[in-house]
Amino acid sequence: MNNDCFVRDGWKCRNCGSRNDLHQHHIEYRSHGGSDELDNLVTLCWKCHRAVHDGKLKVELWEACSKFPGSYQIVFFVPKEAKP
Ligand SMILES: [Zn+2]
Ligand SMILES: [Zn+2]
Repeated sequence: MNNDCFVRDGWKCRNCGSRNDLHQHHIEYRSHGGSDELDNLVTLCWKCHRAVHDGKLKVELWEACSKFPGSYQIVFFVPKEAKP
């Protein structure tokens, strides 16, 4: 594992901005074509990473703009089924 993902994300959790105990998470959804491995990685702190694997937080790649194929944004959302 290299640090490309951390460098791209500025050594911060992409969800909450924490710099505490960072992990690399593989985004489940693989975009249709053109996406290299870094596009499928996101920097998360341990808290957000655990929330993702507990199903309390979802992370997906969405196409940022149809004019620029292969340009993706990472989107976080709370699944409806996750009740407090
Ligand atoms: Zn976080
Ligand atoms: Zn993970």
